[in-house]
Amino acid sequence: MPKPKKKKSHSSHQSEKENLSEPTFNDLGLSEESLQAVKKLGFEKPSPIQAAFIPIAVSGKDCIGQARTGTGKTAAFVLPILEQIDHESNDVQAIVLAPTRELSEQVAMEARRLSSHHPCRTAILVGGRPAPKQIAELKRGAQLVVGTPGRVLDLIGRGVLKLSNICVLVLDEADRMLDIGFRPDIEKILRSCPAKRQTLLLSATLPPPVERLAQKYMQHPEMVDLSGEEISSSETIEQFYATVDNDRKFDFLVRVLRQECPAQVLVFTRTKRGADKLYRKFAKRLPQVDVMHGDLHQSKRDKVMKKFRDGKVRLLIATDVVGRGIDVSGISHIVNYDIPEYHDDYVHRVGRTGRLSSDDKGRAITFVTKDQGEQLTKIEIRINQLLPEYIVKDFSAYRPRTRQNRVIYSDTRR
Ligand code: AMP
Repeated sequence: MPKPKKKKSHSSHQSEKENLSEPTFNDLGLSEESLQAVKKLGFEKPSPIQAAFIPIAVSGKDCIGQARTGTGKTAAFVLPILEQIDHESNDVQAIVLAPTRELSEQVAMEARRLSSHHPCRTAILVGGRPAPKQIAELKRGAQLVVGTPGRVLDLIGRGVLKLSNICVLVLDEADRMLDIGFRPDIEKILRSCPAKRQTLLLSATLPPPVERLAQKYMQHPEMVDLSGEEISSSETIEQFYATVDNDRKFDFLVRVLRQECPAQVLVFTRTKRGADKLYRKFAKRLPQVDVMHGDLHQSKRDKVMKKFRDGKVRLLIATDVVGRGIDVSGISHIVNYDIPEYHDDYVHRVGRTGRLSSDDKGRAITFVTKDQGEQLTKIEIRINQLLPEYIVKDFSAYRPRTRQNRVIYSDTRR
């Protein structure tokens, strides 16, 4: 196991006690290099997950952090990794497993930004990309690897990725990884790492399978539950619902876009086919529209993501799988064209806007058909907030039912 690098100058925890209400980066036990890096990035103060998670993680303890993307959780685990690895060694010393390629890339990008004063060679190991390039990166001496479980396991199997010197392992979006069915792969990877290591787990929710995984593979983990922070999304995201008839959804969306003039909007559909269908309708009418879902080839997904990040795509239609990891500060609006199937997905979708990296409040509008009132209520309970109705001037997105239907329309939402 590589020796942890001696930290050059660490600020004391004393000041944390003195100033509990507003911790600063100086209070978290970070080295001068890390403090310089966050300063360079313009991070003025740690986000709640960073303030709570970093001091535990830099101390070398196992830790479970409940937080969603967009709350600064990447830096919460990357900074402690940078503190603990030996920057002189060519061994792979830290590994981050993430559920999607896009999220892996985002984590690696953030790691590169945060290591400006603490150089750390990072390799991205994800499927859908040529393996030889990734193998070459490993051979150059990557110290941190970030990847999806399938490709990581593949490279372990080929004997090119060795995890015997891992000192920190991170499971990012653990709940999502288990949703996607990565459990057997994750367990194999965990078994390839030394038992004496630090394990950090980040998850928006802690369903029983994640807890079981944690119990089996972590040593007395400390818990940091910032999931309540999601509720404070109300401060950064204005959220609405709109009652819509299925056959008026498209026309309604066009009017919403006209009324809102979004800088960049992410429109979520439930299915890949639904995403394609909506994309075809928009592609005829508007420039700067694109679509993202799991059936698209990786190179196409990469191109779309790049264009979206660069602001060249302004309307992106996506499904949950790819929508989850997206961190693009320009996203001003989220539209749930189809209400999310699970209320946790609502939190993730809406969290794509009003990001820490953006100064502006985001807006999110969820289309609800008349028979989806119960789903809306569940979302409202989840976020502990009643959503106001979104109105488009001079357009009704639904036809109130007639008495013959014997449905009292105004009561259907509850
Ligand atoms: P994440 O939740 O890790 O996806 O981070 C979301 C965005 O917030 C990224 O663009 C980060 O660079 C940015 N970020 C992370 N920590 C901070 C901070 N303390 N202050 C401002 N922005 C931050």
